[in-house]
Amino acid sequence: MSDQNPIKPADPDAWSTPQKILVLLAHPDDPEFFCGASLAKWARAGHEIIYFLMTCGDKGTSDRQLESQMLCTMRQDEQRTAASVIGVKDVRFLGYPDGYLVPDLALRKEITRIIRIIRPDIIITCDPTALYVGDTRLNHPDHRAAGQAVLDAVFPAARDHLNFIELWRDEGLEPHITREVWASVTNQPNVTLDVTSTWDIKIQALKEHKSQVRDPEGLEERMRQRLAPGSTPETPRYEESFRRLILG
Ligand SMILES: [Zn+2]
Repeated sequence: MSDQNPIKPADPDAWSTPQKILVLLAHPDDPEFFCGASLAKWARAGHEIIYFLMTCGDKGTSDRQLESQMLCTMRQDEQRTAASVIGVKDVRFLGYPDGYLVPDLALRKEITRIIRIIRPDIIITCDPTALYVGDTRLNHPDHRAAGQAVLDAVFPAARDHLNFIELWRDEGLEPHITREVWASVTNQPNVTLDVTSTWDIKIQALKEHKSQVRDPEGLEERMRQRLAPGSTPETPRYEESFRRLILG
């Protein structure tokens, strides 16, 4: 047997046509922290990416002088700048209050409406089953709520017209099957992407969340130390992992 010209399996994100990728997460900075290098890679490959963030992160400060509305405006601006670094022009906010997100039927309906309007090929969200992140952190309840509401909207609500029938009957929104869901912040990954080529872009985008990053140099240092297996000092490698579901 020769090992010349081995047939390599295609990368899981080697889509042959431009994809419409809908990012549905809880807070400004979630897209960049959770999967910013993958998003930057996809934007540079010509895929269309749209962010919908459920809150504006209006509780994320220890500054006693900063009121929620001011913080909300600040964080929306930071998110738009960070998204443009990633290569995303379309950033929208749903206006739910930070910290109080629950995966109720109202949120499921709102997300169902968005899915039927945007009609994405791929949805990026986070894994609602991840209660712990590593050995030192609890996952934010808004992250879990967002992930749960998104998965419940993908299936079955967006797919079947009798779910939230008013969306179809009164708003003319046809059902939609999202082909793939990629859940970030997961303890059960089944896909790992090499994102070495866009790791610097992720770091640059993270630094745009100025209200959240008190020590930009420290953040950069920590991010550079997050090396993937097989890295050497000369050739560092970086990865992002997901739970990927192929539904359609
Ligand atoms: Zn968050």
